[in-house]
Amino acid sequence: MRVVIATQNRHKVRELRAYLCKIKNFDVFSLLDFSSYQSPQETGATFEENAIYKAAHAARSLNIWALADDSGLVVPAIGGAPGVFSARFAGPQATDKENRKKLLQTMQGLDGLERSAYFTCVLALARPDGQIQYCVTGSCEGLIAHEEKGREGFGYDSVFVKHGYHQTFGELDESVKNRISHRAKALSKMLLYLESS
Ligand code: IMP
Repeated sequence: MRVVIATQNRHKVRELRAYLCKIKNFDVFSLLDFSSYQSPQETGATFEENAIYKAAHAARSLNIWALADDSGLVVPAIGGAPGVFSARFAGPQATDKENRKKLLQTMQGLDGLERSAYFTCVLALARPDGQIQYCVTGSCEGLIAHEEKGREGFGYDSVFVKHGYHQTFGELDESVKNRISHRAKALSKMLLYLESS
C-alpha cells in the first residue's frame, strides 16, 4: 500500500516515517516527494478538523492513501493558547523562535501548576478517494519552562518539560522524544488499527 505522510515538516516526517516503516507492505512517501503539491490553508477550529482536511485533500489530489498530523501546544492558564494557532502564534509568518518568545512573554508571572501545558496530536488517515478511514489522538502533559533550554527538535520543544522528566524536549535526544511524544502516542494507536485491519 502506498501512503503519503501529508506534511512538509521534516521533523514530523522523520518521526512518523520511523514508525510507519515497521509496517509490512507499506511504501511510505511524504509531501517532500511531491514538490508540486500545494498544501491547503489550515482554517479548522480544532486539531481534528485540520487533520481530517489535510489528509482528505492530499489523498484526493495525489490519489493515494494519506496520513495527516495536526498538532500543537495547549496552555490552559492562557485560555488554551496557542492551540490550533501554534505554528503562527506570533503572526502568520512567525518563526518557531518568535512563537516561543511570545509564549514565554505571555506566561510571565505564572508559576507552578499555572505553567501546566500539553501537546496534542491528531492523526487522520484518508483513502485515495479522500474518505476518512480512521482518526486518533495522542497527548503529552508537562510544564512550560521559564526559559528556553536545548537545541534539539522544533517548535516549542525547548520550552516543554514532560511530567517525570527534568530536561526539555529540546534537551532530550530525538530518539527519546520520539518514543514519548504526543505523536508517538497517536501513532501507536494508528499502528494497532493498521495491523489489525
Ligand atoms: P501544524 O503543522 O499545523 O500541525 O502545526 C504544528 C505546530 O505545533 C508546530 O509548528 C509547532 O509549533 C507545534 N508543535 C507540534 N508538535 C510539536 C512537537 O512535537 N514539538 C514542538 N512543537 C510542536
